[in-house]
Amino acid sequence: MIEIIYADNAATTKLSKTALDAMLPYFREQYGNPSSLYSFGQKAKEALEESREKTAHILSCEPREITFTSGGSEADNQAIVTAARLGEKKGKKHIVSTAFEHHAVLHTLKNLEKQGFEITLVDVHKNGIVRPGEIAAAIREDTCLVTVMYANNEIGTIQPIAEIGKICRDKGVLFHTDAVQAAGHLRINVKEQNIDMLSLSAHKFHGPKGIGLLYARRGIIPEVLIHGGAQERGRRAGTENIPAIVGMAAALEEAVSQIDKVTPELIRRRDRLIEGLNKIPYSELNGDCNHRLPGNVNFCFEGIEGESLLLLLDDKGVCASSGSACTSGSLDPSHVLLAIGRPHEVAHGSLRLSIDTETTDEDVEYIIKAVAEVVDYLRNMSPFWHDLVSGKRPHIFSE
Ligand SMILES: *Cc1c(COP(=O)(O)O)cnc(C)c1O
Repeated sequence: MIEIIYADNAATTKLSKTALDAMLPYFREQYGNPSSLYSFGQKAKEALEESREKTAHILSCEPREITFTSGGSEADNQAIVTAARLGEKKGKKHIVSTAFEHHAVLHTLKNLEKQGFEITLVDVHKNGIVRPGEIAAAIREDTCLVTVMYANNEIGTIQPIAEIGKICRDKGVLFHTDAVQAAGHLRINVKEQNIDMLSLSAHKFHGPKGIGLLYARRGIIPEVLIHGGAQERGRRAGTENIPAIVGMAAALEEAVSQIDKVTPELIRRRDRLIEGLNKIPYSELNGDCNHRLPGNVNFCFEGIEGESLLLLLDDKGVCASSGSACTSGSLDPSHVLLAIGRPHEVAHGSLRLSIDTETTDEDVEYIIKAVAEVVDYLRNMSPFWHDLVSGKRPHIFSE
């Protein structure tokens, strides 16, 4: 059996040993219900509140400003619906966002559109970065929310959220950021960055799946999406998933404590990967080469079909992705690549590699070689590619 090189950390990550160890006692020893009055249940309650304090400290907010959710999708939904309901009361039914948000944001906005909200999706530039001035220009008298992601999940580009937050604060409009890809990799300080609401998901930073959180600034009371008991101060019903919450806090604490130490190495490997893949003719990096997540590499290859590329890489033991995991299975090209202006033909031939600290220099070299071989093989078989080579069709990228 060949060894697997896991280069899809933007889709999900391996649970860290630290997070696992922190979680284990809460399955079989401290399994009480935090809502119970006896002291056994109160132990679980303590773990819950300690986790809230830990995560709040990392985000530079108050523990009471944190609501635990089932993940990033739920937090995004809750943040957006909260702003929409607050806006509605004041007759403000306009929301500003961008065309390359995660579907948890875009589909929530689509649903609000059906309820009479008007959505403006600001353009993303070719480099995968949103310009704050264009967000400012899109804000109107009746705007109730601006939602822009911190880092994009496909192309890894980092957005100027502090600047966008400042614009929103000055104009009195709520600002939400989906920080799911940023958490554990980039600094987050909700105060300094003028963030009113923020979403996180543990499984993107080596925590467990099915747990996330919503930060909502004091004074913004999250709209209830899950009705039932009074857990999370009445904002999210359901018995708290204590092992997962404890695991998320431990994973976030660990990831944040290692940012300074691991980032330079990760960037060095990422840049080597970019350098190696750039040598493949008619290929281009998607998104800015500097303002991107330390582990993200995303390329388009002309004359290639992303799905075939992934299957052949899988045969070589490389786990990668094309577009986002949520849309794979559909044959539509990535909405993110279309948003940065890639034509359909090349948007289909994309590859996302998201490495982490376990990816070695040897892995990087292996990936470069594997991708080059697979691209070459697929192009040789492709009638479309032969049309490009023979000049029947014009190339989009240069050699
Ligand atoms: C993964 C992801 C989500 C969804 O998080 P889940 O916890 O899987 O629901 C939302 N936004 C971004 C940017 C993501 O990468």
